[in-house]
Amino acid sequence: MNTDPPRLGHWIGGKPVSDDAAPHGEVFDPATGAVTKHVAFARAGTVDEAVRTAREAWTSTWRRSTLTQRSRVLFAFRELVVAHRDELARLIVSEHGKVLDDATGEVQRGIEVVEFACGIPHLQKGAFSEQVSTGIDSYSLRQPLGVVAGITPFNFPAMVPMWMFPLAIACGNAFVLKPSEKDPSASLRIAELWAEAGLPDGVFTVVNGGREAVDALLAHPDVAAVSFVGSTPVARHVFTTATEHGKRVQALGGAKNHMVVLPDADLGLAADAAVSAGYGSAGERCMAISAVVAVGDVGDRLVPLIEERIAGLQVGPGLDPRAEMGPLVTREHRDRVAGYLDIAVEDGARVVVDGRTMSAPAGHEDGFWLGPCLIDDVRPGMRVHAEEIFGPVLSVLRVDSYDAAIEVVNDLPYGNGTAVFTSDGGAARRFQSEIEVGMVGINVPIPVPMAYYPFGGWKDSLFGDTHVHGTDAVHFYTRGKVVTSRWSDRAGLRLQFPTNE
Ligand code: NAD
Repeated sequence: MNTDPPRLGHWIGGKPVSDDAAPHGEVFDPATGAVTKHVAFARAGTVDEAVRTAREAWTSTWRRSTLTQRSRVLFAFRELVVAHRDELARLIVSEHGKVLDDATGEVQRGIEVVEFACGIPHLQKGAFSEQVSTGIDSYSLRQPLGVVAGITPFNFPAMVPMWMFPLAIACGNAFVLKPSEKDPSASLRIAELWAEAGLPDGVFTVVNGGREAVDALLAHPDVAAVSFVGSTPVARHVFTTATEHGKRVQALGGAKNHMVVLPDADLGLAADAAVSAGYGSAGERCMAISAVVAVGDVGDRLVPLIEERIAGLQVGPGLDPRAEMGPLVTREHRDRVAGYLDIAVEDGARVVVDGRTMSAPAGHEDGFWLGPCLIDDVRPGMRVHAEEIFGPVLSVLRVDSYDAAIEVVNDLPYGNGTAVFTSDGGAARRFQSEIEVGMVGINVPIPVPMAYYPFGGWKDSLFGDTHVHGTDAVHFYTRGKVVTSRWSDRAGLRLQFPTNE
């Protein structure tokens, strides 16, 4: 019997395509450390074939689709994703490692973008001005771009692609997705659901791979726009390269999110929030809280409360219903994150809880485990504060005043998410105005905007002008046109009842 792990290829032209000639990478089950699949790393030639197939599908079908057809396919797709929510969540757990509840939540947030995109007939409306001059009317249209690409990170293998493609496809584009090579299966399953929903072949494509595949997309003459989500160095590379090739680009980068706790805050609520937002999904969220800025005497009161809550956290395999936090995505990433504890000590900070001491759950000794870590007395400039760690490591910085707290947050190059905890409305209002961050929570630790608002950070957390989903996405995935028209007053008769058919 052949026990080799399955080899994943691509989804091109409405069907699975294997790519045996390409190099393959390993996909792990992070809870056991076992290699469960191999995934193809597309060569530039395969990317070219995928984009050309998408372009043909766009030209021959989707470009001419009616708004009614598009929203019907989206409604059908939404029903299918809802029906397969649990299956998709289990796939995510098996390759990413997060716990099942969390994976189900990410699929749900993706479904909400599909639901928003179902309203495309309303969202893509233009404006009309009658009689701009004698007998002349003027109106605006928003038209699709053609083939657009999405390049996505490992940490939300369903939700982040679903920030992009529902609206790109709803706007009438063909979409080529290059998912993370660490957890590619959810995207391939989603491709099958699109086909079942009635999307014409070639309008949704998945090419698996790494840097070569990404660079081929960034340079391809038939790719009109690129949406990227990932780390800041790669976001910068994607933005620079794709704009050089004349493309429209939105490239969302890394993050270092702070939770500022003022002395009048409800510290029980703040401790719950710090632990949920710091260790949920093992800290592998772009909106995770990685630093608590404790103002005045807050540190002395808050750190013991956080420590108490950490002691009760259950770390275990994602499918174990008792587990609240799973393993990290790969061994290499776990080791890199764990290395920050030594760096913190060298820089003069104090490790309060050391997650390296956790013992692996029975039967999962080779999994990529790291328990929750808490570091106190962190100061600006230390590497644990300056760098994105992307793991279950929460730092505490103690400052004397509100102004010093604002400075700590605003001095970093990242500006994705932040939160303030206070019972003073005036202080919260001042914070929302003065903080240089794109998404702000007031007594809410992970302020991820709903599908109908745009998601995106400031500074090195986003390169480009538009954020993802919300009406920003309709703008990003369409081009504007303004028509000025004059007609003579002659019309034929047509007495039938008007319908869409
Ligand atoms: P990553 O930057 O390593 O990879 C992202 C994508 O880029 C993947 O598809 C990967 O294959 C590709 N890639 C990697 N290196 C490349 C290179 N040198 N050239 C071209 N393409 C390359 O990110 P990751 O480790 O998968 O995800 C974690 C990062 O994503 C964190 O930094 C996190 O903050 C960020 N993130 C940001 C947001 C946001 O909304 N701003 C959301 C989720 C994740």
